[in-house]
Amino acid sequence: MSKRTSKAGTSGRLGARYGVVVRNRIKSIEAHQKEKHECPTCHHMSVKRVSAGIWECHRCGTKFAAEAYSPRTRKASAAEAAAAAAAARAAAKEADAAPAPKAEAAEQ
Ligand SMILES: [Zn+2]
Repeated sequence: MSKRTSKAGTSGRLGARYGVVVRNRIKSIEAHQKEKHECPTCHHMSVKRVSAGIWECHRCGTKFAAEAYSPRTRKASAAEAAAAAAAARAAAKEADAAPAPKAEAAEQ
């Protein structure tokens, strides 16, 4: 098999254009987009993207709307964001509980 896009992956079609950061970003997004994802109904790894925001399970036929490049639903995204915010709050509380030793360590 040709090794032409072994490093660039799907962003190889862009050639040398648009800059390496943009091409790497596209590569990672498209790799996730083109993966098979878990079905929210039958839990098989058979969900593929139909078009932007439309996902379909090839096993049970469930068709649903989600993010353009990821089949996560808004509910799941919101739950993840809430969990992250709660974790950040817990970390901030711990930092407030013991600020003095950290400040001393920074000065030395
Ligand atoms: Zn399914």
